[in-house]
Amino acid sequence: MTPDARVYAYSAVLMGSPILLKLFEHNEGLASRVFRLIKQQENIFTVNRHDSEVMAVNHAAGSHAVVVSQPVFNLIRCAKTVSESPDSSFNFTIGPLVKRWKIGFSGNSVPDSDDLRALLPLTHSHDVVLDESTRSVFLQKAGMEIDLGAIAKGYIADVVRDFLKQEKVENALINLGGNVQTLGAGGEGGWAIGLKTPFSAPDALIGVINVNGKSVVTSGIYERYFECDGRRYHHILDPKTGYPLDNELFSVTVISDDSIDGDIYTTLLYGMGVEKSLRYLRDIPDIEAIFVTKDQQVIFSSQRQFSFTLLDNAFRPVY
Ligand code: ADP
Ligand code: MG
Repeated sequence: MTPDARVYAYSAVLMGSPILLKLFEHNEGLASRVFRLIKQQENIFTVNRHDSEVMAVNHAAGSHAVVVSQPVFNLIRCAKTVSESPDSSFNFTIGPLVKRWKIGFSGNSVPDSDDLRALLPLTHSHDVVLDESTRSVFLQKAGMEIDLGAIAKGYIADVVRDFLKQEKVENALINLGGNVQTLGAGGEGGWAIGLKTPFSAPDALIGVINVNGKSVVTSGIYERYFECDGRRYHHILDPKTGYPLDNELFSVTVISDDSIDGDIYTTLLYGMGVEKSLRYLRDIPDIEAIFVTKDQQVIFSSQRQFSFTLLDNAFRPVY
């Protein structure tokens, strides 16, 4: 990021992730209101504590429908639609598998394949029944669990952007653990967002992405993982097998207007792999992606809404 004397950075750790807010004015009051807003949102959507709205739905699995607030209903409806799109490896009912693996939390272990197989029948999104008229959600089988981890941070980044807009803020950047949303250009050349070098020092960058008022979301296998018997297990699971998705990719970055789309598409495209994603994105001009492959290519689907500067020559850009 280009040092700019006018930029004030505020940080916190929320949702188990480092949160960074950048403003063009020194305004502690505004920063704490933003962090409070994020905290409120986390309290609603988290599945890592017992008492969230989403956990109320999970606790009632196999028993009864639960009435939720409109934002929770909307996000669940959206997650269900994406999960049920053809060949989707995005699956918001993946909770039982995520809880079993505990990737990114203490006590993680590689489950027996029998264990995983036994959990797969509890991860069918069509077993989630939504009722618009009562705003209720029912998980039909006991043991089912919704997990919005692949969509909630993007949604919350947009909530923060909308709040800042309402406060008449013209330039700001919010980074929710890899989900970046921006307002304005931030300075000359736009906001600069680093694309991390996988499995390297935290500040090592493949390159820099410059955007103006866009979201930049990265999902990579180097963010949350553990190692066991020389193998790496990361946190994006294949709903078909119950094991971490395994393909040619280190990471997928999505540039879009809304961060919720970035969050959805990073997970979706990660599951598709490069070739299929490139074909798929041809029909969706507003969603652009950067794929970093294990053989050190940086592949761009298109480049209309951002510019990119390569910093690490070990990686080869492919346009
Ligand atoms: P992050 O920003 O933490 O990398 P992602 O958007 O990549 O998050 O989503 C990963 C999280 O989503 C996991 O930690 C888990 O909670 C959940 N998850 C894992 N696999 C899937 C999947 N196939 N579909 C939907 N959610 C998933
Ligand atoms: Mg995601």
